[in-house]
Order: sequence, then C-alpha cells, then structure tokens
Amino acid sequence: MVDVQWFVACVAGLFGLTIGSFLNVVIYRLPIMMDRQWKSGCAEICDQSPEILPPFNLMVPRSRCTHCGHSIRWYENIPVISYLVLRGRCSSCKAPISARYPLVEITTAALFFYSVWHWGPTSQAISWCIFAAALLSLALIDWDTTLLPDDLTLPLLWFGLVAAALKWTPVGLTSAFWGAVAGYLSLWVIYWVFKLVTGKEGMGYGDFKLFAALGAWFGWQTLIPIILLASVIGAVIGIIMKLTTGLREGGYVPFGPFLAGAGFTALFVGPQRLQTAVGL
Ligand SMILES: [Zn+2]
Repeated sequence: MVDVQWFVACVAGLFGLTIGSFLNVVIYRLPIMMDRQWKSGCAEICDQSPEILPPFNLMVPRSRCTHCGHSIRWYENIPVISYLVLRGRCSSCKAPISARYPLVEITTAALFFYSVWHWGPTSQAISWCIFAAALLSLALIDWDTTLLPDDLTLPLLWFGLVAAALKWTPVGLTSAFWGAVAGYLSLWVIYWVFKLVTGKEGMGYGDFKLFAALGAWFGWQTLIPIILLASVIGAVIGIIMKLTTGLREGGYVPFGPFLAGAGFTALFVGPQRLQTAVGL
C-alpha cells in the first residue's frame, strides 16, 4: 500500500513538472495581459481608438526567447531537462535563461508530490495541488510586478469555499466563510487606518483578496498566525534586502509573497499546529 502511495505521488510530481512549466507562462504573461487590458480600457474611456495589437494570451503566441525572439521548439521546452541540456542558455543567441524557470517547475513538482503523498489520490490532494499552484504563481507575480491578479485571487477564494463545503479541506464551511470575510475586512481596515494616519498606502486590494482566500482555505482561526508569520517573514526578508542593498527604488516590498509563504507553512504544518503555536 505504501509503495502504491509513493508511485502515485511520483506520477503527481511528474505532472507537477508540466504544470510548473505552464505556471512559468502564467507568471510571465498574466501581468502583460492585464496591462494590455487596462490600456485598451483606458483608450475606450478616453474615446480613443485602441491600439491594434497581435493576440497575446496564455496560449498565443508561442514561447520565445525574450532576448532574440527565437521561437522555442517543443524539445527545448521539456521541464528541467531542456534547461540542463541547453546549459541554461538560449539555443540561438546563447543568452542566459533564468534559473527560476526550472526552479518553479521543481517547486511545483515537489508541492504536487507532497500533496498526493500526504492525502493520497483523493479530492483533497487535487484541491491542495490547485491551491499550491495558484499560491506559487501569485507570490512570484506579486514579487515581479507588485500585482496580485483578480484572475487568480478570486478563483482561489471561491474554490476554497467550495472545497470547504465539499469537505476537501480540514475546515468547516462556516469557519471558511468567516475566514474569507475576516481576511478581507481586517486588512481593509488596517489599510485605511494606515492611509489616514500616514497618508501612504501600505498594501493593495490584492492583499485583502489573497488573505481572504487563505481564510477560506484555513478557516478564520488561522488568520492571526498567518498574518503574524507573514509579517515576520516580510520583516526578515526586508532587513536582508536592505542590508544587501537589494531593496528596489521607493523601498516598496510587496506583501503577497509573504502571505503566500505563510500559506505554504499552513499547508505543510497544518492550520491546527499554527494556531497552537500562537496560543489559540
Ligand atoms: Zn535567444
């Protein structure tokens, strides 16, 4: 029985590699798609004819080298293996390919492996795979662009509520529901208090939605440990970035990646243990 579980988890891990490859596309393209949508929306409002641009979505056009435009062939797009065979360089112009691509693939594979190994081939495992894939994408998109797309946060929130209703997550529907409500409202209140006191915006609406989603997945009781953990991770990384002068101009560090980090911690240690850790 144990062997079967390992085998199924390995298959899930391999599947995770290909999903990770897709997440790389999502992480890179979704912010560009949002930007194009905003620009065409602005043009419409201003009564200007929108710029006619070639189609750009998650499927079209085919992946290209961002340096030379070389169209990436299928055998150059095999997760991790192609990166190793190409030694991390474009086959055409030899420009380095970011090591993040294979890292995202390996991380997704590990998350899928863990979910199926832990929960077995069940609806629970599939739910947590989807949760992990969405959370990883959100963390990296926010890190890159300081955006948390509604196209990811809102489905994550809804799916968390549906999964709770179907008993695919360890929290009851009531706890998940109030988790979503309290997650959104608590950060919304902090945002406005901070803004009224300092005149600055400490976070964005995407953070409220992501926190609401985490509330839906882990229940309202886990919100306090999640926000504490996210703040600690954020403070530590912020200090490290300041010391290494890696802090970007304007000093703005997105909060989403740290919320995601706390969400992953809750996934691994379980919401119950996180609550116990802060004395709840
Ligand atoms: Zn190239």
